[in-house]
Amino acid sequence: MSFIDHQTLDFLLYDWLKVEELTRYARYKDHSPETFDSILELSAKIAASEFATHYKKSDREEPYIDASGVHVLPEIKTALAAFAEAGFFGATFESDLGGLQLPNVIQTAAMAHFMAANIATAAFPMLTCANARVIARFGTEAQKWAFARPQIDGRWFGTMCLSEPQAGSSLSDITTRAVIDGHDSLGPNYRVFGRKMWISGGDHDACENIVHLVLAKVPGEEGRLLPGMGGISLFVVPKRLLLETGEPGEMNDVVVAGLNHKMGYRGISNCALNFGEGSKHSPVGRDGAVGYLVGQVGQGLAIMFHMMNEARIAIGLGATALALRGYRHSVDYARERPQGRLASISGKNSASPQVAIIEHADVKHMLLRQRAYAEGALALILYCARLVDDGFSEDEAERADATILLDLLTPVAKSWPSEFGLAANDLAIQVHGGYGYTRDFDVEQLYRDNRLNPIHEGTNGIQAIDLVGRKIIRDRGTAIQSLGQRIMATIERAGLFDELEDYCRILRQAWAATSATVSDLVNLNDTSRGMDHASSFLSAFGHVVVAWLWLDQTATLLKVTDRDSPARTARLLTCRYFIEVELPKIYPQLDLVRSLNDVARAMPADAF
Ligand SMILES: Cc1cc2nc3c(=O)[nH]c(=O)nc-3n(C[C@H](O)[C@H](O)[C@H](O)COP(=O)(O)OP(=O)(O)OC[C@H]3O[C@@H](n4cnc5c(N)ncnc54)[C@H](O)[C@@H]3O)c2cc1C
Repeated sequence: MSFIDHQTLDFLLYDWLKVEELTRYARYKDHSPETFDSILELSAKIAASEFATHYKKSDREEPYIDASGVHVLPEIKTALAAFAEAGFFGATFESDLGGLQLPNVIQTAAMAHFMAANIATAAFPMLTCANARVIARFGTEAQKWAFARPQIDGRWFGTMCLSEPQAGSSLSDITTRAVIDGHDSLGPNYRVFGRKMWISGGDHDACENIVHLVLAKVPGEEGRLLPGMGGISLFVVPKRLLLETGEPGEMNDVVVAGLNHKMGYRGISNCALNFGEGSKHSPVGRDGAVGYLVGQVGQGLAIMFHMMNEARIAIGLGATALALRGYRHSVDYARERPQGRLASISGKNSASPQVAIIEHADVKHMLLRQRAYAEGALALILYCARLVDDGFSEDEAERADATILLDLLTPVAKSWPSEFGLAANDLAIQVHGGYGYTRDFDVEQLYRDNRLNPIHEGTNGIQAIDLVGRKIIRDRGTAIQSLGQRIMATIERAGLFDELEDYCRILRQAWAATSATVSDLVNLNDTSRGMDHASSFLSAFGHVVVAWLWLDQTATLLKVTDRDSPARTARLLTCRYFIEVELPKIYPQLDLVRSLNDVARAMPADAF
């Protein structure tokens, strides 16, 4: 069973995003709609046969640690071997590195199948691909072949080691240090010392070697760590050091200090890792974990942001996939579950047969809301993935426009699906009534899995600060103008259809209110006041963006489908639901932002 509706994906990819046009770009010229279709078909098949099958088991049987290291469920290794065999690890990489040069938007759609089937198992390749991409882009030629290539082949997996016990949101406060030790064929050679926390896939037995990308500070003069971003650099620290043949050899000095036991997302191990403890595994006579500098000293955070941006869109995709799956389960359950009778003017006739709960208006509302959130989030993520592909356009202006817009939308792509995808999963439990609260059904696990998404890869609170502080106030609203032009173009296009006239009006008003709020934020004397309600702004802004995408795809829908097609009716009504019922929720949020309400500032920390 596929949890992602093929018809919806086909409509979004081919009719709306016109992905076949990507084959005009030199990078994608060897592809065609046929190769895209076969990739999507294969991903749905492997997701169903290899990923979905251990969804519940990987939740019940968590990773464990013993003297030989961390162990994950054997089914995860089998699933990822099938994923590698089909070429999915290398799908979007350059062909000279063993990749397929597949458009990002197609791989994103394929990953939706895997994530919906088993989000934790899909997290291994998600991290691995993001890791390999950083090395492929910023590493030396030797580093690419030594560390990116085995990940592109799916033989080794990757991690991102940023967080520390005392430094999560504030990465400038990391204390892991890296000291220069020499130089070899893999670049400047450092010794890394420190403790990393929360490392997903930090250790396991599902592959031959693990490539850690570690953020650490190179000390300044007198060996002291510099404050702030000073000296923050990026290092490849392999779990096993490389033999001359390039194959994994002796253990590096990376030790698992413990496993974190999580609420959800349990199939992938989550580790506290100690680097350079000088354990018995360390190379003879040398202390510290061996690490190779990627890029230059001091560039670590800037480089890592490339990985984080990819990972942020992937987090949004994961949240979306879980919401889509929850919606599917909800519809199936609501059709099957007889309960109660419909009220009419003459009251209820208790002798009449019960109706399925899908007939009740309240349940319909819960289903509409789930669908509007889940499919709205899918449109947002695929749109962003298409912008990544437009970054390969031969047209310089198109490339620049895509980059500006993607930068603006990345915090939205991470946070909106993780806020509203989680809300959708909450509704999925509600639709199931008491049964939804039990482990006999999948929806409680979907909720627990999805609860991580507003937290990792920068909490949603940090995304809000990024959007308001960096992408609006510091940018003086330039990127917003580019978005505004696209929204106006959609309103013009949709305005040609009588059915969409009202929605165009509602969206125009919403955009005017958003623009007025942006203008207030940009003109603040004390810009720190703009941060007080950054989360409300992010949430409202996300709603406007998703409403725009609902309208845009619906304008396409009306052009390409028959008037009486059921799919058209369903999508048109879901669009109506989002625009009429959801979009107006932005006004109290924007009012709060503009009011500069200072209740939180007024509350002293010691008064709680
Ligand atoms: C299951 C799981 C997997 C993870 N995987 C990885 C991984 O693979 N690699 C990795 O490096 N990290 C990973 N993380 C770490 C994750 O990215 C951090 O948990 C996250 O960035 C938040 O950091 P923290 O937990 O230290 O919380 P804190 O930074 O202490 O934040 C606590 C709260 O304070 C808020 N807050 C903090 N600073 C500010 C501020 N300046 N302004 C306003 N509010 C603020 C936050 O929004 C949050 O609500 C993972 C975490 C989990 C739980």
